[in-house]
Amino acid sequence: MTEPPAQDGMERAVLDQAEAQLRAVLGRMPREVSLLLFTSATANQVFSDAFRQVLRAIRTMAPKVSLREFDLGHPKAREHEVTAAPTLILAPDRAAIRWLGAPLGEEGRVLVEALLMLGYGDLGLAPESERILAKLSEPRQVTLFVSPTCPYCPQQAVNALKAALARPDLISLSIVDIQIHPALADRYDAHSVPQVWANDVLIARGAQPEELFMTCLSKLQEETVFIPESDAPLVEADLVIVGGGPAGLTAGIYGARAGLKTVVIEKDALGGQVATTPVVENYPGFTQVGGKTLVDIMVSHALQYVQIFPGEAVLDIVAGQPLEVATSRRRFQARAVLLATGAGYRHLGVPGEARLGGRGVSYCATCDGALFRDRDVAMVGGGNSALTEALYLQNVGARVTIIHRRDRFRAQEHLVQAVAAAGIPILFQHEVEEILGEGRVEAVRLLDNRDGSRRQVPVQGVFIAIGYQPAVELAKKIGAGLTPDGYLQQDERHRTTVPGVYAAGDVAGGARQIVTAAGQGAEAAMAIFEDLVHPYWTESGSA
Ligand code: NAP
Repeated sequence: MTEPPAQDGMERAVLDQAEAQLRAVLGRMPREVSLLLFTSATANQVFSDAFRQVLRAIRTMAPKVSLREFDLGHPKAREHEVTAAPTLILAPDRAAIRWLGAPLGEEGRVLVEALLMLGYGDLGLAPESERILAKLSEPRQVTLFVSPTCPYCPQQAVNALKAALARPDLISLSIVDIQIHPALADRYDAHSVPQVWANDVLIARGAQPEELFMTCLSKLQEETVFIPESDAPLVEADLVIVGGGPAGLTAGIYGARAGLKTVVIEKDALGGQVATTPVVENYPGFTQVGGKTLVDIMVSHALQYVQIFPGEAVLDIVAGQPLEVATSRRRFQARAVLLATGAGYRHLGVPGEARLGGRGVSYCATCDGALFRDRDVAMVGGGNSALTEALYLQNVGARVTIIHRRDRFRAQEHLVQAVAAAGIPILFQHEVEEILGEGRVEAVRLLDNRDGSRRQVPVQGVFIAIGYQPAVELAKKIGAGLTPDGYLQQDERHRTTVPGVYAAGDVAGGARQIVTAAGQGAEAAMAIFEDLVHPYWTESGSA
């Protein structure tokens, strides 16, 4: 019998590979990048030390990076109007970008992205974004709130960095770690991440495709739709996969390995729901792994085979042969399309929920949980997600109470016992009827469904994990059939009712586990390969 490789050894190997790649790209940067770091021995010293260590490590890998360190009391701090530590000022000769906090966790990749943009001078802006920014004529002071545990934050931070570097004459940017600067967050009533304010106007909550971010920045308002006039070249592929979660990424690996030219398009954070799952304990090969870590491993595996188009929203699919896929940035033609669009958060639909979104109402404990340290929060739901996230919230120091509408949980026994062992209070047979608060969450109004009584419970946060709604908008647009429960209809070969269009993962319902999504992605890609050799949609069945 052979011994399995130690999990620690595997993680070490992944880290070593990442460090070697980082060393190579930072080492080759052609342009000088100057950094000014302001620290303090009294305020936020841990974070000052962490920032200093990160930057000194980067400095050893990147000969073109120069680092100067100052105490907050130094005249340089006054010159640059720095009042908090740690603060990093990036390339003051070329831009007006400052970082209030320390680049821990997810923010680490933002720092690397910023250095690469500055060091290579290549922003990789989409043509449409360039057009929007070129027309800008008024200044924009952008404040972006991020947190180390938010997988959506890097995408939005990269958008903001691109804007600030493309128009340094008009756009200044402050990236603020919301956990280190809760007072600043309170001033903006910002209680979710990522959140972007420009000239003190809230312009975006959550991550956005790049062009949509630029539109909001230019119009100074929240927008949800972007109408592209893109002239980017057409991309031809055998298989276009819509969705970069476990189903889409696995299908990408299998499709490409079968010899199909395969691309994956993802509008939000790669990994889908897994990216925001605090801990995964039932994916074979990992006794316990952070959701985001698992996603990173899957993404780097998939990138060995497929091209991924991140931050690109698919707006339309036109059936036929070839199928046409239009995104916010370009057009694709494909012989087959796999819809692995997953599912979005289900909403309670009670008064106050939408109004207080990002102001205490959250669907992502991993992203926003740490903002509620020492605060009372409600966790609504009784499934695996609610219990996992309640444990996470307790771990980050929130005083959490679970509110569930029935007298027993739907979650697995293992989690039920963990919640009991952690002593998390539970209100069974209670329903949230309203979320109350002026500018931010102050209380929930609960109905006790045993006796019909009502009461108000003061809380500062309401986390909602009551399941997901399948993301079937695109499927509906091309006329694909749905099941009576609203999932995308598929047969045993993952074919939908539209020829050449397939389904995999949570959008099609079923067990909705990471491992089953990955399995369905593999099955779908194999079925697609066989169908492209013998297309069932032509009369002769020949390609
Ligand atoms: P879920 O299993 O569908 O549970 C949803 C919970 O929310 C249920 O307890 C439900 O109550 C409650 N609920 C639904 N609508 C409600 C409403 N309007 N008001 C109040 N409560 C409401 O959802 P989930 O926990 O998000 O899990 C989704 C899927 O992902 C599941 O298949 C789960 O097993 C899976 N998951 C997998 C992993 C993993 O693979 N590691 C981790 C997390 C989740 P009732 O019980 O009364 O219906």
